[in-house]
Amino acid sequence: MNIVKKIFIHIRSWIKLISLTAIALCMIVGAIAFIYKPTYSVSLNGEFIGYTRNKSELQKQINEYVENGDGENVAFVQVDNLPEYKLCLLKKDVSENDTEIFETVKNLGTPYYKYYAILDEGEEKLYVATYEEAEQAINELKEKNSNNKDDLSILEKYEVETKDIVTKEEVISKLYEEKKYEPVQVKSTVKYASGTNSSSKKVPISIGLIKPVSGTVTSRFGSRWGSNHKGVDIGAAKGTKIKAAASGTVVTSSTGYNGGYGNYMVISHGNGVETAYGHCSALYVKPGQKVSQGEVIGAVGNTGRSYGNHLHFEIRVNGVAQNPQNYLY
Ligand SMILES: [Zn+2]
Repeated sequence: MNIVKKIFIHIRSWIKLISLTAIALCMIVGAIAFIYKPTYSVSLNGEFIGYTRNKSELQKQINEYVENGDGENVAFVQVDNLPEYKLCLLKKDVSENDTEIFETVKNLGTPYYKYYAILDEGEEKLYVATYEEAEQAINELKEKNSNNKDDLSILEKYEVETKDIVTKEEVISKLYEEKKYEPVQVKSTVKYASGTNSSSKKVPISIGLIKPVSGTVTSRFGSRWGSNHKGVDIGAAKGTKIKAAASGTVVTSSTGYNGGYGNYMVISHGNGVETAYGHCSALYVKPGQKVSQGEVIGAVGNTGRSYGNHLHFEIRVNGVAQNPQNYLY
């Protein structure tokens, strides 16, 4: 035998040995894997809380819970520590505790609730679930001209304790405050109609008017009892709000008898158009004040030469009293 052949045989026996060892190892590992499988021992704050074979799935579930919570209005959950996992080999018949582990983590967490407080002059009044609801409630209170409309604000809250969450509608009904009107005592220049349009012809005006009070006409425009009635009388209870028929500037606001008109107001709407309001129980505007259409300017009463609570309402064009029923009522 030459040296080359000797070496060749030597190598071949080595390969044989290595192969056999590898096969044996595989069989051992296979046997272990058959009896055992990888399991994680889970501990929280240093305390053993259970076993899991599905580490990534369990941790995903826990992360999800911490980020979003699982209750209504929960913003997030605060946990002091997250579970620790240690790989161990255990027999197949050891039971997993994924559910218990999750429950343990959950019980030690502190949920934080997120909601929105509606403040009136900085004081928390009511709570709603979303910012949109809070915003809509305040906007509607503004539209309804609630007395507190300028004092309302929204605050985002993250709290451990939940509050009574109410609906937008509840916010509106509970926070709505009727506007308080302060009666004014004024003596100003009193502007009366310079004439009466006795024809049935309607003089066109370029503005839209609204009814200053709703009610029934108790006395019409035109001649009555041998004189001229320069407006219409609308019967309404004492204190009924009188609204400006259109936007404009107050030219007369005068308390007293005022030639029979009683507490009396005149508003100029421009282009020679004026509206007048007589027999009021209270006046809320002053001469020179700008008013918008629908704004409350006074209250129905029985002052001056009047028999029963009603509003005497006039529409004038260039000083001449027109029949209001050509435009309203
Ligand atoms: Zn009248």
